[in-house]
Amino acid sequence: MPSAPAGATVTDVPTAGGVEPVVARTREELHAARRSRTDGDVAVVMTMGALHEGHATLIETARQRAAHVVVTIFLNPLQFGPREDLSRYPRTFDSDMEICRRAGVDLVFAPTPDVIYRDGDPGVRISAGPLGNVLEGQARPGHFDGMLTVVAKLFHLTRADSAYFGQKDAQQLLLIRRMVRDLDFPVKVVSVPTVREPDGLAMSSRNTYLTDSDRETALCLSRALRAGAAAAAEGPSAIRRAARTVLVREPLALIDYLVLVHPSTLEDVPEWYRGEALLAVAGRVGTTRLIDNLPISVGPGGGALEVFTDVDSAGA
Ligand code: AMP
Repeated sequence: MPSAPAGATVTDVPTAGGVEPVVARTREELHAARRSRTDGDVAVVMTMGALHEGHATLIETARQRAAHVVVTIFLNPLQFGPREDLSRYPRTFDSDMEICRRAGVDLVFAPTPDVIYRDGDPGVRISAGPLGNVLEGQARPGHFDGMLTVVAKLFHLTRADSAYFGQKDAQQLLLIRRMVRDLDFPVKVVSVPTVREPDGLAMSSRNTYLTDSDRETALCLSRALRAGAAAAAEGPSAIRRAARTVLVREPLALIDYLVLVHPSTLEDVPEWYRGEALLAVAGRVGTTRLIDNLPISVGPGGGALEVFTDVDSAGA
């Protein structure tokens, strides 16, 4: 990074890819950087690092709509179970910074766990409630309480006016919307459609775990979702059947669930249901647990949607 001229803040140092983001590692550094950004609204994009084009799209969408963009990079131990992949999760800070620079981020907040959890594991946490116990919550007990707890803390610490989250993590997005509504957080939640590889695989930091043959196998998830969407006009059982038919042809993908649920209750939609629904799938390929989903409009003229129009317009 080029050094700043004497008296200048690092905020305004130009680089080849854009302006060098300020990096805050402590609460004090974050507060100081935040205090100098009062000339317009602030958007936050929360990540666990290992950034890819999905994250870049969130940042660019935020950049188009807000005066300042803060990216948080924090691998939150609270949302990982004891047998999950916290220790092997990819840590790629330098290339993360390159993406932030290119995408026009002002401020990167990259704390360590002791900065976020000053007294160790927090005794007081956010409870995701019943919606946190189904689907991903059933497979990952406590995951959503840990996720919401850090999201709430990062809302407070960044004092963001808006926050951008990926449709890729549909249940996470729903729970964040619920937390913001139920607990009156003064922040606008914006969802961004899932960014995919050209062959359809949803981008994920965990895709780096996949071997070449795992990656081939993993394609059945997005293929199943597309097959389901193609049957959208015929109703719920046709959608489920079409998606399942793709998955059973791929025995190396160990499917955890394939569901067609209401986007705000996560309950299976009945056969008579017409309207927006979430087709979601999760499974293990090799050593990697993958999730994917498609918002679908069920009924005549139905098919895949980018994001939910009903839920989003009713959102916080
Ligand atoms: P993560 O770093 O995996 O916790 O993700 C940080 C944010 O990026 C979350 O809001 C995710 O939903 C979002 N995200 C991750 N992958 C994608 C993707 N392929 N497309 C869109 N958003 C994504």
